[in-house]
Amino acid sequence: MQTKAYAAQSATAPLAPLAIDRREPGPKDVAIEILYCGVCHSDLHTARSEWPGTKYPCVPGHEIIGKVTKVGSDVTRFKPGQLVGVGCMVDSCRTCAQCKDGLEQYCDGPISFTGTYNGSMMAPENTWGGYSAAITVDEHFVLAISHGEKDLAATAPLLCAGITTWSPLRRWGAGPGKKVGIVGIGGLGHMGVKLSHALGAHTIGFTTSPGKAADIKALGADEVVVSKDEAQMAKHANSFDLIVNTVAAPHNLDAYTSLLKRDGVMVLVGAPSSPHPSPAVFNLVFKRRAIAGSLIGGIPETQEMLDFCAKHGITSDVEMIPIQDIEKAYARMLKSDVKYRFVINMASLKDN
Ligand code: NAP
Ligand code: ZN
Ligand code: ZN
Repeated sequence: MQTKAYAAQSATAPLAPLAIDRREPGPKDVAIEILYCGVCHSDLHTARSEWPGTKYPCVPGHEIIGKVTKVGSDVTRFKPGQLVGVGCMVDSCRTCAQCKDGLEQYCDGPISFTGTYNGSMMAPENTWGGYSAAITVDEHFVLAISHGEKDLAATAPLLCAGITTWSPLRRWGAGPGKKVGIVGIGGLGHMGVKLSHALGAHTIGFTTSPGKAADIKALGADEVVVSKDEAQMAKHANSFDLIVNTVAAPHNLDAYTSLLKRDGVMVLVGAPSSPHPSPAVFNLVFKRRAIAGSLIGGIPETQEMLDFCAKHGITSDVEMIPIQDIEKAYARMLKSDVKYRFVINMASLKDN
């Protein structure tokens, strides 16, 4: 199926229209008309080759909301007309221990999971993401959406920003009686604040942008700390159970590990293209603190998060853009000027 899309042809070329071919649905496939696609900082890292392994042309986008147009003969969970989501993965081996545990993002291989775009570096072919009019996906990787029609654009970012913060919050037990910090209030961070608050944790947003403070409280934070202010940081020493760090740039991790209480954990989800300065070992050993990492989330936990958000009326705070404005959106993202996720209205693709 010929499908309109937007693609980067190189690390320096602006994204521009491209016609791509989508497969006709096989027996287990769901064909989806894409309505909205969120803009993740990972799209920018990939399009600009800030991480190794980008294949061009690169069609980013892994926060997809759409409507089913056609299903294969063996598809049981979806039917035409249904609203669905697709996140960061479109395939995995389904047989390894990780896949059996519903944590397909940690698939042992042989080619790891297949990303929705720029799929596994070892896969013979590229995959193309949600900056396009349609996509065909195996039903295992399609999510059911129960948010209302009016909330659809604001639901798209749950497919990456939502699950990437939900997964560590759940894994490390965010909830009543726990003090949780969220560092960097962009796309991921603003969802982290909303979800941590909804899970019942005492939630503190860390920002480098003092102008975001009122917004961060409105998102559900009990307190806001401007991380450049050492006195504000010092007040929270030795007090956090969990810190989820979403920052997309290298920075001093010790400023945050020293805020963890004994056995506290800081989970890194931000994935800067160059390394953080090495953390101070003494800061970790003296209070048995830990630094961990976490990658998106598995399909069962993504469905759990979507259902939780639908039940609690949680969506993302979005700014809708036409696809023609994607470069402007990337430029603003680099300046931490996102309130708090750009979402592409895919109807704008018809204008190309
Ligand atoms: P984003 O919307 O650009 O937000 C990042 C936020 O980090 C900014 O809004 C800013 O918040 C803060 N920040 C940026 N530069 C900073 C700096 N130099 N020092 C301190 N703080 C800074 O990005 P995003 O879409 O949330 O993605 C964040 C990172 O997570 C990216 O690296 C992305 O690739 C990665 N990611 C990882 C996973 C995973 O599975 N682990 C999944 C998705 C994305 P303040 O203005 O509040 O300081
Ligand atoms: Zn993402
Ligand atoms: Zn596997």
